[in-house]
Amino acid sequence: MKLVILSRNPKLYSTQRLVEAGEKRGHEVLVVDHLKCIIEIEKKNPKIFYKGAYLDDIDAVIPRIGASVTFYGTSVVRQFEMMKVFTAVESQALVRSRDKLRSLQVLARAGVGLPRTVFTNYTKDVHHVIESVGGAPLVLKLLEGTQGLGVVLAETKNAATSVIEAFNGLKARVIAQEFIKEAGGADIRAFVVDGVVVGAMRRQGKEGEFRSNLHRGGSATLIQLSDEEENTALKAAKAMGLGVAGVDMLQASSGPLVLEVNSSPGLEGIEEATGKDVAKEIIRYIERNV
Ligand code: ADP
Ligand code: GLU
Repeated sequence: MKLVILSRNPKLYSTQRLVEAGEKRGHEVLVVDHLKCIIEIEKKNPKIFYKGAYLDDIDAVIPRIGASVTFYGTSVVRQFEMMKVFTAVESQALVRSRDKLRSLQVLARAGVGLPRTVFTNYTKDVHHVIESVGGAPLVLKLLEGTQGLGVVLAETKNAATSVIEAFNGLKARVIAQEFIKEAGGADIRAFVVDGVVVGAMRRQGKEGEFRSNLHRGGSATLIQLSDEEENTALKAAKAMGLGVAGVDMLQASSGPLVLEVNSSPGLEGIEEATGKDVAKEIIRYIERNV
């Protein structure tokens, strides 16, 4: 097969691993920078021009689209779909996953456990927002945040009020969320490929940090998921329509609660923590579908 990895940087761990895994299984693998693709729209003849030539005879694409370039990146993925090329992540699902609020709505409808969450249009009734997620302490999140930036633990009602008012004053929308204290600054990431959990890790935030993001200094270890956790991860990936997904969950006393479903989940942390060849699982998923 001829595979395209849509990635801005061929040197990234995840990109390199996918190239390696694809080539090892006998495929031709091209790394294509989606921002350098020229999308040509013409009746019944969709084309993509890239670095002096048309991308022809491509069997499948693996999108690794960063959050900051979702608009153009998903347009390129959609163009490949128009060209009848199989994509490991559909453009629709990619767009959906990048809207935190919409994602939570979709997950809630599917019956996936979630922390209590409130979103408003810059309401003046900050008191109600705080009370409806159970009061302080509570978590506030910038709608556009990623890698744990823009996620704040407000310890008191006064702190929460100030932060919500400050963000709203800057016209930055925030999500208020019940704080799951018993998660203990840790979360779990289940890596789902084609309806199967191919690896799972527990990420623990560094000392005194409630955010467990690896980018914020957290550390990852292998974990065995409970049946309930596994089912929740699979249900979440399915509801989001993602063939490849990183499902982040908190271990609450009431059971697993999904925080987020990532459509370009990194391979480094999960491969390191689990020792699994996750890149190979993604390539095999494509092989089954082309
Ligand atoms: P991002 O998408 O920026 O990573 P998350 O919503 O995943 O933001 O939050 C970052 C981290 O903060 C999570 O991995 C988790 O460890 C912690 N966290 C987020 N929401 C909550 C919550 N409601 N209760 C407890 N911890 C949380
Ligand atoms: N985009 C990264 C991932 O999905 C974020 C890792 C992190 O949470 O620090 O794995």
